[in-house]
Amino acid sequence: MKRADLTRRAERALAMQSPCRLCPRACGARRDRGETGFCREGAAARVFSAAPHFGEEPPLSGTAGSGTVFFSGCTLRCSYCQNHEFSQGGAGTAVEPDALAGVFLSLERRGCHNLNLVTPTHFLPQILQALALAASEGFALPVVYNTSGYESGEALRLLDGVVDIYLPDMRYGDADAAARFSGAADYPRINRLAVREMWRQVGPLLVDSSGVARRGLIVRHLVLPGGLAGTGAVLRFLADEISKEASVSLMSQYTPCFRALGDPVLGRRLTRREFAEAEEALRRSGLRRGWIQEWSGRASREFLGEELRPGMGGGDKRQWGRRKADARRSAPGHSTRLKPVVRDSSRAGPTLAFPPGLESRIMRWDRRRRGGTIDERAFKMGEHQAQEGRGGPEARQGLQQVRPGDQRSGQARRR
Ligand code: SF4
Repeated sequence: MKRADLTRRAERALAMQSPCRLCPRACGARRDRGETGFCREGAAARVFSAAPHFGEEPPLSGTAGSGTVFFSGCTLRCSYCQNHEFSQGGAGTAVEPDALAGVFLSLERRGCHNLNLVTPTHFLPQILQALALAASEGFALPVVYNTSGYESGEALRLLDGVVDIYLPDMRYGDADAAARFSGAADYPRINRLAVREMWRQVGPLLVDSSGVARRGLIVRHLVLPGGLAGTGAVLRFLADEISKEASVSLMSQYTPCFRALGDPVLGRRLTRREFAEAEEALRRSGLRRGWIQEWSGRASREFLGEELRPGMGGGDKRQWGRRKADARRSAPGHSTRLKPVVRDSSRAGPTLAFPPGLESRIMRWDRRRRGGTIDERAFKMGEHQAQEGRGGPEARQGLQQVRPGDQRSGQARRR
């Protein structure tokens, strides 16, 4: 999108900011006069951390990482927020739009596959301003809108043609849980309207010949203990009212933290049985695309915001690699691997299916390569196919290349 168009949209977004109606709360804060709203943020964008991230879904992380920018503040108040230090706790640094544009450009220079804006809604004007500035410098990465899914239609329409990949949560299937644990009783209704609009804008996930995402919708659903996330209802909605072609990321990583510590239900991890039930709900829904995060009974700090280092210079890949290694050591046995729900190689066109022959890359897996993303995906693909008796020769051959001990942990294989 051209700079002039982005600038026009930024002006429209700025008009929505005071009195503020950028998010569905429409709390009316005069942010131009120094007031802060429910999100606790004022006129300037604030960033906690910006760096390449390798733990996103495989087509987003690819081999070079997803260029994540974690913004401070949030329009929800989730009691179990893994990023509470900066989403609700005030951590972060104010950045002017030109500095933010510099962050975007630096992530592009580092080779990231995309710009991944994490919890961006309340800074929409500043982000659009920064994108306009970056565009004039040739910025061309796909833009990922990584959101809680609590979005107003008016704000989303400003993003039509700006965002390439929507990555919304669908957190709850019913209002009581949304009110109790995130302070937003209207979340399910608003969230469903938002996902519908996102789907209208970008449609199904499309990947390039390397398997890296270029456009489309990926819905994340974090399964909560005690069935609190309403997994069945969420997945049925997605399948029946959006599309069975919508990609879903079913996440098992729930870890009690923040105000959930000590909660009678949210104060514990998911059980294996609970996650198996969620997988079964996914199968019943008929959704055909996406990933299931491997279940682990151990607590992992790896995904928690507490593990993020603040700052915008924290993206050095070697440093990040060390951080990942530290996190793995602190959570032995935990796997970040995501297994594909399905591979539909019969479909024509650029779909989530991996490029032909990629399975055979398992045999060429190079231990010196950091991240192991594509190869690891391929491995999981082979395993999935073999389990279902649909594996081709390459897939079966791939499994034979992996020793039994190796199958427990992709990270162990990489070390
Ligand atoms: S973005 Fe923040 S200030 Fe604006 S309406 Fe939402 S909660 Fe209020």
